[in-house]
Amino acid sequence: MIPFAGSPLDRASDKRTNIEWIEAKLHDASSLIFPMWRLEPFLLGSQKLASPGQLGLLRPGIADPLAGAGAPCIFLGLDGNTALFALDISAAANPAEQGPLAGLGYFCDARTAAQIVSMKDAAIIAQAKALIDWHQRHGFCPRCGAPTRIMDAGYRRLCSECNSEHFPRVDPVVIMLATCGDACLIGRGKQFPSGMFSALAGFMEPGETIEEAVKRELMEEASVKVSEVRYYATQPWPFPSSLMIGCFAKADSREARVDDNELAEVRWLERGVARAIIAGEQRDGIRLPPPIAIAHHLIRTWAVGES
Ligand SMILES: [Zn+2]
Repeated sequence: MIPFAGSPLDRASDKRTNIEWIEAKLHDASSLIFPMWRLEPFLLGSQKLASPGQLGLLRPGIADPLAGAGAPCIFLGLDGNTALFALDISAAANPAEQGPLAGLGYFCDARTAAQIVSMKDAAIIAQAKALIDWHQRHGFCPRCGAPTRIMDAGYRRLCSECNSEHFPRVDPVVIMLATCGDACLIGRGKQFPSGMFSALAGFMEPGETIEEAVKRELMEEASVKVSEVRYYATQPWPFPSSLMIGCFAKADSREARVDDNELAEVRWLERGVARAIIAGEQRDGIRLPPPIAIAHHLIRTWAVGES
């Protein structure tokens, strides 16, 4: 399983436009509210970053005093009969230290949180964070500049002037492991820590298929020509709203030339070396991405021969 995927919730999208149902659930004592503060999820407990971490799900009303007027409260879905909502409490000054949440838990960045909570809870974080982030950045209409307001329990915004509708965005990114014989292509981004390599990746462009984007990115970043592109898996990546589309690609040769506008370095990694690094051994000072990243799963799947 890939982190941020595999949500346990039934999104019950048919309920979003049912205002009475949503209102009733918002005040139903069995419902749960998941506060996020400045895009950081709330986790229970006093021991910061204790593993396993637990989502800070609260009974309705507790966090309300912390939310500003019009703060997004988003219906995430149903867990059995229990409705889950995400509430943006960014208006609060320091909610872990003062107010109704003081002493109950703490806030931490979503990437760190996802690595200490269960896979199911990480998927809930992904949904909540991507949606709240979108609302925070879409308070005004891109057509006419007038304020927009939240609709459909958080899945639509409507312009108050021109009535245009705006929907939460998902930005597709291709991330691909090019292979040639028993080696795969890895690259080091300019901002990466020393020795850290990953699969190559890039945003898809309008008017492009996944296969075309994979071929273009490999050519642009590494001058590597690929003939065959194969889908592997996708991963929601809520930083802020990407969908990572993992692929394998067969390269025609092991020639590669880094585009130094994009990357610091590219190199071919032998399968045996990749396997050793994933098993925790030190080889050539190379580090590969941790399991939170789909790149880790692409490389591991190929290295252990499952691809
Ligand atoms: Zn407008």
